[in-house]
Amino acid sequence: MRYISTRGQAPARDFADVLLAGLAEDGGLFIPETWPHFSPADFRSMRGLPYAELAARVMQPFTGTAIPFEVLRTICHAAYAGFGHPAVVPLVQLETGLFVQELFHGPTLAFKDMAMQVLGRLFDYVLTQRDKRVTIVGATSGDTGSAAIEACAGRDRVDIMILHPHGRTSLVQRRQMTTVHAGNVGNVAVEGTFDDCQDLVKAMFADAGFRQEVRLSAVNSINWARIAAQIPYYVASALALGAPDREVAFSVPTGNFGNVLAAWAARRMGLPVARLIVGSNRNDILARFLASNDMSMAPVEPSLSPSMDIQVSSNFERVLFELLDRDADLTRQTMLDFRRFGRMTVADPVWHRARTLFHGFRLDDPGTEAEIRRLHATSGYLADPHTAVGVAAARALPCGGGVPIVAMATAHPAKFPDAMERATGHRPALPPRMADLFEREERFTVLPNDLGTVEAAVRALVGRNRA
Ligand SMILES: *Cc1c(COP(=O)(O)O)cnc(C)c1O
Repeated sequence: MRYISTRGQAPARDFADVLLAGLAEDGGLFIPETWPHFSPADFRSMRGLPYAELAARVMQPFTGTAIPFEVLRTICHAAYAGFGHPAVVPLVQLETGLFVQELFHGPTLAFKDMAMQVLGRLFDYVLTQRDKRVTIVGATSGDTGSAAIEACAGRDRVDIMILHPHGRTSLVQRRQMTTVHAGNVGNVAVEGTFDDCQDLVKAMFADAGFRQEVRLSAVNSINWARIAAQIPYYVASALALGAPDREVAFSVPTGNFGNVLAAWAARRMGLPVARLIVGSNRNDILARFLASNDMSMAPVEPSLSPSMDIQVSSNFERVLFELLDRDADLTRQTMLDFRRFGRMTVADPVWHRARTLFHGFRLDDPGTEAEIRRLHATSGYLADPHTAVGVAAARALPCGGGVPIVAMATAHPAKFPDAMERATGHRPALPPRMADLFEREERFTVLPNDLGTVEAAVRALVGRNRA
């Protein structure tokens, strides 16, 4: 399997190169040269498999010859062995025809673990093959940093340093990062904002000498391997509800468009998906695009569902490339204009096609709180604010014809105890395996918002492990 760039000016690569590179050199995103396809018989043969086994089978066409199948199987089994539910991604029924699929039973209680746990192990395998090490740096306001740390802690070939804004993350989120004690993990609390942290990371990547010296790498949400590792759970829930002999619909609370892109990919590979619903909070660039062909950037506003607080959904570029019939020049020009003018211009026929692929939905904070309360009152189910957006979207846009809808539950309600308590009067407890989170010892260094100081901290971490 080879991958090409959506902007057409980078050479084709295999899975291992795409994993390590993340972004293509021309600024584009990697996408499979041809989409793999599963027949109905292929899908039927996957019914009833344990999740890790199914994940390996669904990912295999993407990893191709870069990762031997036995290695991929072992990685998938190890990645999901530590999840807090034996089904890994259990389906819960809320009403007739309405289900949630819980993607939050991993080590950090959010769906990022589904891909990150696989990614950390893939990095180790590929880097061992090449006898190389990398240093991952990242900035986080919450979920992504902890998922990346959990995925990389104790890996042989990777050091990881995560920057978070000092005193500006939730306590659960900070402790999920700072109580992981592994020699290859570093946490820096920057005296500044999340934007300062992001600027420091960008500046480290722009410092060519430093970048080479520590072999910088990233695991951000545009990495194709993350998308590939998110496709299997759509297959799993569809099979459980009768696919390939019955259609299903999915509702996905969306930020960077990675999760819903994986659902789209599952359909592209032959899964009978009747409808894909894109749920947004008040940061509704995608909903506006689908409603009125208005893809214009707006300032990010904080909401009850912070992991969906985005200005631009970076993974949308992959769908755009397909909508434009894989015209890389047009994709590149459209994306450059979008960056320059803050507004994406898409021809009407293309927009109409987008509307046949996706349904948009927007829910503000009061609506989200009302949905959490309603769900709790009618079924006793505690849905976190992100999940509540997806469930509300599913209820607003039913398919009819007896097609079941599965809403993706992307975070454990215990990650958002204040919002949950306000809406329902209940403060959800952390799962037993994490109940001691607030007693664990924290390790992090508070540093000023200064590039030289932060680079020195990264060097010290790397030096310790390469000596
Ligand atoms: C990251 C995240 C999302 C958004 O997912 P995308 O792939 O960025 O669209 C939704 N909910 C939660 C809890 C998340 O952590």
